[in-house]
Amino acid sequence: MKNCALITGASRGLGKAIAIQLALDNNLHILINYSSNEKAAEDTLNEIVKNGGTAEILKFNVQDKENVDKALDEWFAKNQDKFISVLVNNAGITRDGLFMWMPEKDWDDVIDVSAKGMFNVTQKLIQPMLRKRQGRIINIASLSGLKGVPGQTNYSAAKGAMIGATKALAQEVAKRNITVNAVAPGFIKSDMTEAFNEEDYKKLVPLNRFGNPEEVAHLVSFLASEKAAYITGEIININGGIYS
Ligand code: NAP
Repeated sequence: MKNCALITGASRGLGKAIAIQLALDNNLHILINYSSNEKAAEDTLNEIVKNGGTAEILKFNVQDKENVDKALDEWFAKNQDKFISVLVNNAGITRDGLFMWMPEKDWDDVIDVSAKGMFNVTQKLIQPMLRKRQGRIINIASLSGLKGVPGQTNYSAAKGAMIGATKALAQEVAKRNITVNAVAPGFIKSDMTEAFNEEDYKKLVPLNRFGNPEEVAHLVSFLASEKAAYITGEIININGGIYS
């Protein structure tokens, strides 16, 4: 049975780098999820294939349980020779603004993509992992979820929820040989941080620069590997030395 990795939000940024790295390091068939940017998802696919890996695109909106269930049920039906052994819950959005003026929709959307999205996809994939007694779940949280960042109350709440859920779920499923960990990046170069002036914000970072998506991808790839079999329930910072 071929082992696969599903990375949500793998069309761009961190998810794209993680998808490419997991294919290179772990001999996994990659499922590239995205919500709207098909061209970017195809770019991820082409890069994996160029490196000698295999991948396919699986479009769904992580916020929408019906949409997630339908896409994954169809995939399961067509791929009985494959097993999704690695899940990376990476899809995330920001809608920054001061809490006192925050529209309810901005609160809901940010929490629904990160925290509800994690529920929707993980609950679907954990059933076969439990049956097979094998699995790696890696949640992409954030420094915001540990420290709390002003102007990001919604995002800090969403990522804080992922962190709590990571610790609880890790203990529920450890007996079945499934590990659940989170990665908490600081400032990483991507479309999400494009509007941030690196010259100003890097002053907050002891290493004096933003991180690259590839640096996060190496950490995720390690957590997804056999070498990380005894690490579970951890929240691993990758932020250039910022203490949370
Ligand atoms: P990004 O460049 O904006 O990419 C976001 C990705 O998520 C895209 O592939 C996007 O797909 C996908 N996505 C968004 N909403 C989705 C939905 N409802 N369903 C499925 N996919 C969806 O962001 P990034 O910087 O790579 O961030 C990736 C993760 O790292 C996020 O969870 C973010 O919170 C976290 N993070 C980032 C940083 C940072 O500094 N960049 C720091 C800490 C944590 P489309 O292309 O189809 O829109």
